[in-house]
Order: sequence, then structure tokens, then C-alpha cells
Amino acid sequence: MVSMDKIVSLCKRRGFIYPSSEIYGGIAGFWDYGPLGVELKNNLKSEWWKSMVYEREDVVGLDAAIVMNPKVWEASGHVSGFVDPLVECKNCHNRFRADKIVDSTCPNCGQKGKFTEPKKFNLLTEVLLGVTEPKQKAYLRGEITQGVFVNFQNVVSSSRVKIPFGVAQIGKAFRNEITPGNFTYRSREFEQMELEYFIKPDAKVADKTFNDWREQRINWYKSLGIKSENLRLRKHKDDEKAHYAKEAYDIEYKAPFGWSEFEGIHNRGDWDLGRHNLKYKDQESGQEYTPWVIETSGGVDRATLFFLLDAYQEEDKRIFLKLHPKLAPFKAAVFPLVSNKTELVDKAMKVYKLLKTDFFTAWDDRGNIGKRYFAQDEIGTPFCVTIDYISLEDGTVTVRDRDTTKQVRISIDKLKKYISEMISYETR
Ligand code: ATP
Repeated sequence: MVSMDKIVSLCKRRGFIYPSSEIYGGIAGFWDYGPLGVELKNNLKSEWWKSMVYEREDVVGLDAAIVMNPKVWEASGHVSGFVDPLVECKNCHNRFRADKIVDSTCPNCGQKGKFTEPKKFNLLTEVLLGVTEPKQKAYLRGEITQGVFVNFQNVVSSSRVKIPFGVAQIGKAFRNEITPGNFTYRSREFEQMELEYFIKPDAKVADKTFNDWREQRINWYKSLGIKSENLRLRKHKDDEKAHYAKEAYDIEYKAPFGWSEFEGIHNRGDWDLGRHNLKYKDQESGQEYTPWVIETSGGVDRATLFFLLDAYQEEDKRIFLKLHPKLAPFKAAVFPLVSNKTELVDKAMKVYKLLKTDFFTAWDDRGNIGKRYFAQDEIGTPFCVTIDYISLEDGTVTVRDRDTTKQVRISIDKLKKYISEMISYETR
């Protein structure tokens, strides 16, 4: 398995992820996505949106504000219940999450059993609004979920949804994590991609819906290339469950730092709509009830990190990211065989411009072909198209596959079709 150091260094070197405000020494728990990172993350989010919204008939989208009336967080139980247990090492005075300490050993100084009693630490990040004192205290949302619940009635009355239905949302969330770490895994600002699926308050319906979504979600990660042996579903023990959860499972990835959650599937029951006093009226039966909610709550940053870790390959000194073509930042790269022959460069430029209208495409005319392949492999570009002397004669180009390194000759007029078919490949 690839080490975290290698991934962190590749991410920085090739423009996937940088430490936030690095020129001022950075800031713990915040990260910036570079030119390739933003593409990978956008591709991941758009695949998620396609499968959760466009391919379904029972799900609509939403984009709620990050800052809400603070009463939302009181009603949702986050002001009192969104807490982690905090301990301080009496030797080095560093603070940690008590439930993440192994063998009562301080992760910083190594002293054993020197911790203070755990204190409850609230994870909500406060913000102050307005110009007059005292300023109004509000919170940056600690989960994107509540934006869906507070809009429940708006969505029901303004769209044609009927129970069962879901509301999907992607957006930033903020948590004042005690110990951010493991690169982007535990950040203070991160993105979530979530579905809140509303159902009748019925235990049998809830069980079935809960099972279906667990299966659907883990299969989605597999369909985008994460290896089955690196994925597992883990049921929460009673003492681990969040304050809102009746039942909870995590989808976990076998990371270099151990099995780690990157999506939670929760049966939230009627906790949230009940706390916000919201009900649903069935138009046909006239029956009024508080719906139950099954939630799938994925982390965009954790998933991005795990896709990168899973894709990283080293073979005979060749480093390549075996990202699913749907996720890869560039779909193709175009090269003239050499850069000092005008006819080759002109023709290659035409091919580049042709592909660019449909796919995010790279151009490279530096160094030799071997170096260009190496550079594209390292960022996961699935297809490298080279324009050579034969191209000038018969209008064909070579297309080299990242994973097999095999080349095929394709005529330029079939190139777009070929690449688009190869991108939609389900199992690579
Ligand atoms: P953990 O136990 O690791 O703190 P959690 O159980 O509190 O996570 P949830 O509240 O279920 O996490 O949030 C849903 C998803 O949001 C997580 O599976 C994860 O992908 C993402 N997430 C939560 N906290 C963070 C964080 N600090 N940094 C990055 N992603 C996060």
C-alpha cells in the first residue's frame, strides 16, 4: 500500500492539494485544491449528482446557505449534543480526542496514562454577524443536512415530490476538530455530499430502504474503481451512534492509517423533522405524519483522498494513477511526436482543439514522448494521443492507454467517439 507521504508529496508536486495559506505557515485543518485537484473533486461530485439526482425519479437537489438561524442548531440538538470528548496530556499539554487515543498513550510525547478527565467539546464553529455590538452569534454549519430539513416544506410545496422521496445536496461543512490530521482526512473545513431520503414512519420500510441505500452506496464506489478488498461496511455500536441516529453504518476504506470512515449511512428516524415540528400530509389519504429519514452522508474530501490512494500504482519505476477515466482530471493529452516540425505541431494542435471541445485535454510538446507519458501517467490521464509522420499521410494517430501502455492507431475522425466510449467503460 502506498504511504501517505508519497500521496501528500504527489498532490503538492502535481497540483492536486496544497496546505492552505502556506506562505504564512499554513493553518491546521484547512487545504486548497490546485488545478488538478479541483478537476478530480468536481468530477467526483458530478458523478455523485448524476447517480443520485439525474438517474433517479424520486430525488431533487438543493443548495442551502452555510449560515442559518442559530435556532436551527438548538432544535437539531447540535448545540448540546454535537460534542467530542477532549483530554489534555498533563505532560506535553497537547489536546486530543479521547476516543481516538490508543493504549492511553499520548500521540505527541508518548507518555502513558497522563490524561485529564474527558471534557465535552462542541464542534460547531462560531461566527459573529452584524455591525453593532453585541454582534449576533451564529454557526458555520456542522453538517449540510439541516439545510434540507429546514426546507422540507418549501420543497414539498414547490415541487412534485411525494413520499418516498429524497433531497440531495453537496456543500461545505465546518467542524472545530480537536485534532485535525491525516492530510485532508480530518479537516476543519470540508465538503459533504448527502442524500436525505424521506419515508413513511414504518420500521419495515425503514429497514428495507436502509439496506438498499447501504448496498447502492458501496457499489457506487466500486463502480468508480475502488477495489472491493479496500472497502467495508461497519455497523456502529450503541455507544458510538450520533445523537440523531437510530441505526448507523459506516463505509470504511483501508487507508494507510487503518480502516477509516468516509461515508455514513444513518437511519435518523423522525429525530430531525420532529425537532423542527415539521409534518407531511399525504394528498391521497389525507393522513398527516412525521416522515422518517434515511441518510447517506459522504465526505467529498475523504473520498477524493481514498480514490487517489487506491489509484496509486508503481510498476517498473513507472508511477501511475489508475483513476477511473470519469474521475481523471484530464481525459486525454495530445502530443506532436517532435516539437520542431511545424507540420506535426500544426496537425497536433488541430487534434488538441478538436478534443478540447468535448473533453478536458492536456497539451504537451516538451521533452521526449517517454517523459510526456511519464508526466501524464502520474496525474492519471487515461489516453495519450500522438501525432506522428504517418498521421500526416493517412490522418491516423496513436492512442496509448495509461493502464496497459498499449497503443492503437485510430483515425482522427473516429477519435472523439473512441475516447468517449472508453471513458464510459464501467469496469476497467
Ligand atoms: P468522524 O467519526 O471521523 O469524526 P463522523 O462520524 O463525525 O466522522 P459524520 O458526521 O457521519 O462523520 O459525517 C459524514 C461524513 O462527512 C463523514 O463520513 C466524512 O466523510 C465527512 N466528514 C466528517 N467530518 C469530517 C472532517 N473533519 N474532515 C473531513 N471530512 C469529514
